[in-house]
Amino acid sequence: MITVEEARKLLLDLVTPVDTEQVPLAQAARRVLAADVAATRDQPPFAASSMDGYALKSAEVERHAMLKVIGEAAAGHRYGGQVGAGQAVRIFTGAPVPDGADFVVIQEDVERKGDLITIRNHPGDKSNIRPAGADFRVGQIISSPRILRPEDIALLAAMNTPVVPVRRKPVVALISTGDELVMPGEEPGPDQIIASNTFGLKAMFEEAGAHVRLLPIARDTRGSLATALDLASGADLVVTVGGASVGDHDLVGDVTSGLGMERAFYKVRMRPGKPLMAGRLNGTAMVGLPGNPVSAMVCGHIFVLPMLQKLLGLNPQVNFHRATLAAPLSANGPREHYMRATVENGQIIAFGDQDSSLLSILAQANALLMRPPDDPALAEGTQILYLPL
Ligand code: AMP
Ligand code: MG
Repeated sequence: MITVEEARKLLLDLVTPVDTEQVPLAQAARRVLAADVAATRDQPPFAASSMDGYALKSAEVERHAMLKVIGEAAAGHRYGGQVGAGQAVRIFTGAPVPDGADFVVIQEDVERKGDLITIRNHPGDKSNIRPAGADFRVGQIISSPRILRPEDIALLAAMNTPVVPVRRKPVVALISTGDELVMPGEEPGPDQIIASNTFGLKAMFEEAGAHVRLLPIARDTRGSLATALDLASGADLVVTVGGASVGDHDLVGDVTSGLGMERAFYKVRMRPGKPLMAGRLNGTAMVGLPGNPVSAMVCGHIFVLPMLQKLLGLNPQVNFHRATLAAPLSANGPREHYMRATVENGQIIAFGDQDSSLLSILAQANALLMRPPDDPALAEGTQILYLPL
């Protein structure tokens, strides 16, 4: 059996970044920027006032000085003339500072009577002028790859970028397998349960930037599974759930071998999630996740999310955080163990029951506490690594 790290490496070898597309800026949030974008203008494009007040010459700024107001500059409407000695221009936030002026006295420091202003309070040293290009200059770059946050979108807009080069959303085909499964909302028979894994995984993969195709549940027959795999064609990644262990009804390995899958591995030394298989089927990456609901979700985090990151042109990574054990832990076995846990203020505590079927505990957890293989018993206060959920 291979290690989690080895499995992840083999899985990443199965995929390459998808191609890119252009999307309108208004649709670019949360997408992955696929090429550097350069500003096509300076911002601000002119020296601009940062306050409402009066633009004048800094040499004339002193208490009791009296100046004549010769015009007005508002945002979007510059004052075309020149500011001379003894003169001021009424100015508003965002307006271009008129030629000849290099200081804005805020209106609170001024008393105005008709066309005359008197500086009443000492205006201080701050000019209240934003120089041209203070925010960014032509050619300044937003670098790729990155997931575009609202903050990046605002900057792209200011840089005058109406369309944005992003990675196409990788298409993931998701297949549940099992005679016992029905879809949520259907009436289950007495021996049936609701398919939950594919819904949790769909949410997880879509949050990571994928487009997920939820295929019909494959029954535990070779024909049904082959049909589902056929429906998956065209996807960038095919993910099956269940049917991957060694029971009589676990057909995923058999059927995919029959269809010519080049298998990369089968079984990983981890808990939960030992029966994980992967390979390439007709040129497409395929991952067979275990059926136990918690195993499927944990394997989604540990293995599939890094694959999606690579498909999206991002640097694949699993970011562990550190916390302090708030309760002791018994020794771990030979497999890397991901334990459902809650972490708060840097203190982490694992749930007592780690059975891989318990979704209710997964839903209460906000962390997966990672135990390396053969980790000895740990005392309260020990530093450990975890993945946030
Ligand atoms: P299997 O790997 O097919 O033997 O499934 C292991 C366990 O996970 C069984 O108890 C299945 O009923 C359950 N299971 C498999 N697939 C799903 C699914 N999509 N949703 C919920 N439970 C599942
Ligand atoms: Mg099954």
